[in-house]
Amino acid sequence: MAHTAYCTNAWLGEVAASLVRTHFSECDGLPIRCCFRASRSRILGRIRIEGASVVITLHGELAAPTVPYEVILYVLAHEMAHLIWLLNPLTAARYPHRGGVVEAELAHRGLTCFATFAAAWLHANWSRRLRNLMDATPSPASARWQRFLAGTKARRMSAIAARADELADEYGLDGIHVCWANACSADRGVCRYDQRRRLLELHPALASPLVPDMVIDLQLLYGLAYGRLTDEVDLVSLPLLSTAAETIKTACRWETEAWPSTRRRVQHDVHGRTLESAA
Ligand SMILES: [Zn+2]
Repeated sequence: MAHTAYCTNAWLGEVAASLVRTHFSECDGLPIRCCFRASRSRILGRIRIEGASVVITLHGELAAPTVPYEVILYVLAHEMAHLIWLLNPLTAARYPHRGGVVEAELAHRGLTCFATFAAAWLHANWSRRLRNLMDATPSPASARWQRFLAGTKARRMSAIAARADELADEYGLDGIHVCWANACSADRGVCRYDQRRRLLELHPALASPLVPDMVIDLQLLYGLAYGRLTDEVDLVSLPLLSTAAETIKTACRWETEAWPSTRRRVQHDVHGRTLESAA
């Protein structure tokens, strides 16, 4: 079902409220605020706790009349599945998608049909829509990242792809594709892995020589081994990766301790100022 005009935030709030009533009753009574927000990132939705409220933000492009209702429902349900995990201090994970926890939560709530529909629609439409959006309005920020990635000190994607092949051979795993993510200032994660496309998108700040090689290896191993893990501890205990266990542990520690400040420093160098948003 496609709608006829751009969706409003008020409408989105109503859809979210009805989803809470039908599928997420433990969130009933929580002050959940939903809105569409213009973005250049691939990310469909975000959720954050802001004081006493929960804020769910959907990519502005999803408000377009040609986006099916089921896709919006799926993105809201996906964010609410994160919320269930966020509300539990034992499960509030640093890697909220690892091990397929979101898909499992949606399946448990009988929402798999929306996830399947959305995955097919997004696969067929989302990248093209975003490309059109970028082409229509090229961003100065992405041009600056491109200049940084073309610089002499930056790690080359061709070398990273070759390393991914090498690791796949070494550990007997199927190969993956790798590329630089189109990072916006709000993207804080080191990488994102798209299982359907077997595509690992790396934050462009990882191209900086300030980032040790082992951290790149960690992301590649994560992408290569994805689907067999629930978190980084499992990555270490995966028997076939046992020879990489020490590197994985050290790289995980670097990620926790040094990635946020390194990313800010590289962003600052690339953009000439700190672009960190409050979001
Ligand atoms: Zn998510």
